Amino acid sequence: MPCQPGMNSWVNRCLDALQPRACVACGFDSGNANICVSCRADLPWLGPCCDRCALPLAKAGDPACGQCLAHPPPFDASHAPLRFSFPVNRLVHGFKFRRDSAMGQVLSEVLCSHMTTRASECKTALPDLWVPVPMHRWRLASRMLNPAFFLAQRLAARSGSPLAPHRLRRSRHTPTQTGLGASERKSNLRGAFCWTGQPLKSLHVGLVDDVMTTGSTVSECARVLKRNQAGYISIWIVARALNA
Ligand SMILES: [Zn+2]
Ligand SMILES: [Zn+2]
Repeated sequence: MPCQPGMNSWVNRCLDALQPRACVACGFDSGNANICVSCRADLPWLGPCCDRCALPLAKAGDPACGQCLAHPPPFDASHAPLRFSFPVNRLVHGFKFRRDSAMGQVLSEVLCSHMTTRASECKTALPDLWVPVPMHRWRLASRMLNPAFFLAQRLAARSGSPLAPHRLRRSRHTPTQTGLGASERKSNLRGAFCWTGQPLKSLHVGLVDDVMTTGSTVSECARVLKRNQAGYISIWIVARALNA
C-alpha cells in the first residue's frame, strides 16, 4: 500500500521518540526523557521556604520570613520548585537565549509537577487565571521566546484554568534588570506594565515567570493586577535566586 501523505512525518516522529536522548544536564543517555533520573534528583530543590516570597526561612515552620512580615510584598504567595544555581542557571539560559526545547521541557515539567503537588496539598493554591510576565516586543524580537509565556501555557494546560496571554503588557521598554541593585530595579520598572483586559473581579491570578531575583518585576506586575481588582496573586517561577 502506498504511503499516505503525512504518514512519513508521523513515522519519523515515532522513530524520533524512540531514539535515546542526551540528558540536558550531564549529556549522557537519558532514555526517552530529557533529563536522567540521577540529574533530576540532584537538581537544587528549594525545600521549605517563605510562603510569601519563596526565600528560605530562618526557622523552619514559620509561615513567612521576617522581611515579608515587616514589609509585605504586593503578592500573596510564591511557588518555586528550584534554587537558581547550577545546573538550573544553565538550563534557563539555554532555554531563553538558545531556544533549547529539551531544556524548556525539563523546566516546565518540574514547575507543572510542583503545581500538581501544591494543588493536591491545598485546593485553593490553584489560580483561576494564568498571566505570564510580558516581555517587551523589542526584546521578544531579538530573543524570539518569552519563557514566561511558554511556562504559563503549560501550567494552564495542566491545571485546566485559562491563560490570559496578552492582557498584561509592557507599556514601555525598560533597560535589562541584569546588574542593577534592588532599588534601581524598582525605579527602572515603575509604570512599565499595564493591564488591558477586563477587571479581574477578585479572581486568584497566577503570575508566571522563569526566575525571581529581587522580586521587583513580579511586584510591579502584581501592583498593576491588584489595581485592576485581582483578589489574590500567587507567583509561579521555576527558580528562586537566593543571593540577589
Ligand atoms: Zn544526567
Ligand atoms: Zn518572605
